[in-house]
Amino acid sequence: MNLVVMKFGGTSVEDPAAIHRTAAIVAGRVANGRSPVVVVSAMARVTDQLLRAADAASQGDRAGALAISSRLRSRHRDAAAALVKNPADQAALVTLVDQKFDSLDEILRGLAAILELTPRISDLIVSFGERISSRMVTAAFREHGINAVHVDAREIIVTDSQFQKAIPQDDIIDKKAPEKLLPLAREGKVPVMGGFIASNETGLTTTLGRGGSDFTGALVGGALAAKAIEIWTDVDGIMTSDPRVCPDALRVKVISFEEAAELAYFGAKVLHPATILPAVKKNIPVLVLNSKNPRNEGTRIISLAPHCKSPFKSIACKKKLSIIDVVASRMLMTHGYLKAIFDIFDKHQTAVDMVSTSEVSVSLTVDSNDRLPLIAADLSQLADVKYEGKKALICMVGEDIRGQSGMAAQVFAAIRHINVRMISQGASEINMSFMIDEDDADEAVRSLHAAFFQNPDPDIFDVEARKPLLASSS
Ligand code: ASP
Ligand code: MG
Repeated sequence: MNLVVMKFGGTSVEDPAAIHRTAAIVAGRVANGRSPVVVVSAMARVTDQLLRAADAASQGDRAGALAISSRLRSRHRDAAAALVKNPADQAALVTLVDQKFDSLDEILRGLAAILELTPRISDLIVSFGERISSRMVTAAFREHGINAVHVDAREIIVTDSQFQKAIPQDDIIDKKAPEKLLPLAREGKVPVMGGFIASNETGLTTTLGRGGSDFTGALVGGALAAKAIEIWTDVDGIMTSDPRVCPDALRVKVISFEEAAELAYFGAKVLHPATILPAVKKNIPVLVLNSKNPRNEGTRIISLAPHCKSPFKSIACKKKLSIIDVVASRMLMTHGYLKAIFDIFDKHQTAVDMVSTSEVSVSLTVDSNDRLPLIAADLSQLADVKYEGKKALICMVGEDIRGQSGMAAQVFAAIRHINVRMISQGASEINMSFMIDEDDADEAVRSLHAAFFQNPDPDIFDVEARKPLLASSS
């Protein structure tokens, strides 16, 4: 069997038109002899709205919570009616949607009386997004002639009881997924399940954390030893830089898991790397594809990167950062000093992106946030502290940067007109990062892109896309 797990994000199921496109994509895979297992997110923005409803209810705003739910009910009802033509099937789907919203409203009313939102209730409330979307998508697939069957994800994805960020129990999932899904696939059926939602061992609904549908896709793909996992989203895959900043950015055709992980951490928002680890561990390729442009080949993420003639794969940029300089005037770098500094960041639950130290000073970068003055006040117990916002981190990612001599010289020559505040290389062999002023960031990305993607390796980058651009500019 040629099993492929296809995960569709919120924008791929956001309205009837998107669901029809998704159905056509899946039907195409079936026609090509593939056996898809489909994982879907809630319709776009639904998870946020469910959380808002929960919040309102828990603050006693019963009417506000029910109003949000009622708008969501209309949106789903309208979509259900548009997706299914046969009157009996349509009525059945609309009734199902109504039943789900009736239960949701009951929970919201209870919450508005109890006025306490526990993580457990929050998970139960958000789970409606995927529980309903997966039902609607199943019905729509059947309209398209796909032999789709709905599967409750909570019977397969079993987690611990850390509601809102539950940890999957791999051994159980590795058993349940083949048990429930393989017989269906063998009969030529296409299982459709919600992503993100799961249950603990006593059957209570849990979730895998925001954006968790990719994780579901990877868990299912891993457990089934699928041939590939496809993550369908609304971009063409991983690009050499942000196309809004750099119009001649190219699609990266293939990238290693580690490179993709570095990029995701430093601002490229395509997917969260930890979520595809279950696939990488089992050597299953992950493809990032665009449901609005299905002909595009997307980006293939694999464990070991193929050799690339260009030193870098992509340039990421993370803005809205601050640099904190801690200068120890009295105490030199004594034992325990760094620990004392990091304990303060820990206390304020603030993650540090980059660190650079000298004999007497330490510079750290963090996301700009309103805790910064408090952090600075605590740090000033140890040393002199200065902090400055409006900084950006540029992160250049590529295989084996460390092994190539003269690379730093080339990078900094490309941005010689820009003032660099902090540099880091060596923590990872595949990333070279530095901090600059936020106002210089776009210009820096364009200069670096021009310097390093002049003659991109056609095996790794989609150079075809650049030809029409070149033709139009000449
Ligand atoms: N619907 C969930 C969220 O918005 C999970 C996902 O789409 O990945 O976080
Ligand atoms: Mg997502």
